[in-house]
Amino acid sequence: LRRNPGEAEFHQAVREVFDSLGPVLRKNPRYVDAAVLERLCEPERQIIFRVPWTDDAGRVRINRGFRVEYNSALGPYKGGLRFHPSVYLGIVKFLGFEQIFKNSLSGLPIGGAKGGSDFDPRGRSTQEIMRFCQSFMTELYRHLGEYTDVPAGDIGVGQREIGYLFGQYKRITNRYESGVLTGKGISWGGSLVRTEATGYGTVMFAREMLATRGQDFDGRRVTVSGSGNVAIYAIEKAQQFGAKVVAFSDSSGYVVDEQGVDLDLLKRVKFEDRGRARDYVEARSGSRLVTGSSIWEVPADVALPCATQNELDGDDARALLKNGVVAVAEGANMPTTPEALRVFQEAGVLFGPGKAANAGGVATSALEMQQNASRDSWSFEYTEARLQDIMRSIHDRCAATAEEYGRPGDYVVGANVAGFIKVADAMLAQGVI
Ligand code: NDP
Repeated sequence: LRRNPGEAEFHQAVREVFDSLGPVLRKNPRYVDAAVLERLCEPERQIIFRVPWTDDAGRVRINRGFRVEYNSALGPYKGGLRFHPSVYLGIVKFLGFEQIFKNSLSGLPIGGAKGGSDFDPRGRSTQEIMRFCQSFMTELYRHLGEYTDVPAGDIGVGQREIGYLFGQYKRITNRYESGVLTGKGISWGGSLVRTEATGYGTVMFAREMLATRGQDFDGRRVTVSGSGNVAIYAIEKAQQFGAKVVAFSDSSGYVVDEQGVDLDLLKRVKFEDRGRARDYVEARSGSRLVTGSSIWEVPADVALPCATQNELDGDDARALLKNGVVAVAEGANMPTTPEALRVFQEAGVLFGPGKAANAGGVATSALEMQQNASRDSWSFEYTEARLQDIMRSIHDRCAATAEEYGRPGDYVVGANVAGFIKVADAMLAQGVI
């Protein structure tokens, strides 16, 4: 706390992982002797830089860019870039810290990192976005490489932004280094299923949890917060599994659609028109926009928070419980507050933490890197089957580890412990670095 003052989200993420590790450390004192926890509190490298760009009115703007290269024990640094006005070092460090364990759980050879900027893309023209991305990459490129650090998208960074970032990297380095970024367009090195992977994977993980109680998605009521990349594909997969998705949100409020969300309309509004929740409601009779209260008040069997950190608090958790929620899976990173998590766990609700439940995105990014390295591209069906296998194996590893450490059904402990052991062993093997 003293070394990293004012980084509340980072403290929260570290505490949540370390709270799970007592039994592991008692069983394996070598981790304590080698100061693995102390090392994990300190990123390997943190880069903070100025991003100057010019808006459409000709005015010079300055934003702050970040890349936290957190841990490379298991492979090159890997993790997304977030463009959102709330971004500061504490957010990037929390996300980078989470990413270490998520990437470890994915079973693929990737280290943990995160980056981004306090740039607000909302209301900016395409030209402004492009100039910003070019300026951002003009500084960041020197730290990247397919064997060094491989960013991807996150909030505010989708395929359009990855395209501008990739174009600038190529221009500066004079190298078509496909493996330097993931989330690329299909015709220029991207992987099928990458766009869908985080949302799909979250629902696949939730289905695995439900199956442990002999349940599934068929006929279930589902609420999904957010309406970005993760949320939309979580809605798609939940619908494919037979669920009825009755609510989604953005930062302007939430939409209730008791007929079940019209996914084609939602995709058009969000991806093509870059519109807002109210544009959906205007086009869809019977749906309504609600502001000033929480989406978690809408009764649901399964809740999928897919927007941002700390968006589901203790009151929200109690409201969901009262309405009979049976499972919660985090599509977003750390969307559930510690109090809400306690409420769910005490009530025996199935709870899939983000570092396990949303690992499908980064796992498919690693599959994109594999395709780039072999100059190959796999079919949608094959890649989705790989994603399904990965999600099942993450689920099973979390469940088995929770059981082994005396906490059956506790996916938080399972994910933290299983993710930690693999990274810690690799750190020990590589010496004091
Ligand atoms: P997008 O930018 O595509 O969508 C984010 C959605 O969440 C939007 O609907 C946005 O609404 C809403 N949102 C964002 N910030 C806030 C806020 N402060 N309050 C209310 N609503 C908010 O991002 P993604 O879908 O890619 O990411 C969503 C979450 O999933 C993040 O936590 C991210 O870290 C996590 N994640 C993403 C992965 C990926 O592959 N993209 C991988 C793993 C995790 P509005 O448009 O109004 O701001």
